[in-house]
Amino acid sequence: KGKKAGRRAVVAFDADMLGDERHRRFIERELRAALLMDELELHYQPVFSAASMTVTSHEALVRWRHKVRGMIPPAQFVGIAEESDLIDRLGEWVLRRACADLPALGSSSVAVNVSPAQLRHADYADRFAAVLLETDTDPCRIIVEITETVPLNAGGVAMANLEMLRAMGVRIAIDDFGAGHASLQYLRGFAFDIIKIDRTYVANLADSRIDAMIVSAICDIARSLPVEVIAEGIETQEQLTRLKLAGCTGLQGYLLGRPAPLPARERSQQQRASAA
Ligand code: C2E
Ligand code: MG
Ligand code: MG
Ligand code: MG
Repeated sequence: KGKKAGRRAVVAFDADMLGDERHRRFIERELRAALLMDELELHYQPVFSAASMTVTSHEALVRWRHKVRGMIPPAQFVGIAEESDLIDRLGEWVLRRACADLPALGSSSVAVNVSPAQLRHADYADRFAAVLLETDTDPCRIIVEITETVPLNAGGVAMANLEMLRAMGVRIAIDDFGAGHASLQYLRGFAFDIIKIDRTYVANLADSRIDAMIVSAICDIARSLPVEVIAEGIETQEQLTRLKLAGCTGLQGYLLGRPAPLPARERSQQQRASAA
């Protein structure tokens, strides 16, 4: 199927080819140009407080608006960026844009996803702080989401970076909690502020007794630590009801709000304001 000329655009981003070195280098080159040409954008998904059902934060999710291929989701390029220094540039671009957009978001906080690769650099927290300073952003309004794929060894560089960010007032969230192999180990190693329950548990909530039990147990742990616990991927009213009952403090998913770009007018006002 991949050889048909009409499907070339699709083929270029076919997951089957991600292992292909030439394909990887091609995407890398295009992404490097995209960063320079401002072809990336952030979509924001609201997170609601379970207690008040008001929006407390937005999660920034990167997209690549390719001039030929249209909108490309992060799953098709973040992994490739992670294999080079591109992830550092991409990550810094995301943080800077999220900070610039924050006043127009209408919520008190914004969450950014950070790759393990970014935390390997000893100066990561310093560069992070520089972006906040540059954009005049209160660190207390920023949430950093990391997955448990980041090796967090006591005394390691990643841990030191997270500790510095946290000391500044940035909140640290474990993303996709329960999806990896080391969730509990991870909780023991660092004082996280937020746990985000992986959406596969939310998806199975109504049909699987074990998944419902795990969600309840995660909420119990979160309550006694205490840390915030956000359920992601909520698509049905039934899931929402069960998650509130289990004790989730934050709620996120298509049912409540899909990721969407900042309305264009607000963004241009914001850019004018920050340029002034
Ligand atoms: P994530 O951080 O776990 O983000 C949640 C993903 O679930 C997003 O996909 C979001 O659009 C999707 N989602 C939200 N609500 C629902 C729902 O109700 N149902 C379903 N089926 N999905 C829902 P997206 O935007 O494609 O992002 C995928 C992943 O890419 C993210 O997972 C995150 O790990 C990564 N990513 C996104 N933006 C960035 C970024 O700026 N930097 C880095 N390093 N990674 C990013
Ligand atoms: Mg996330
Ligand atoms: Mg997640
Ligand atoms: Mg994820």
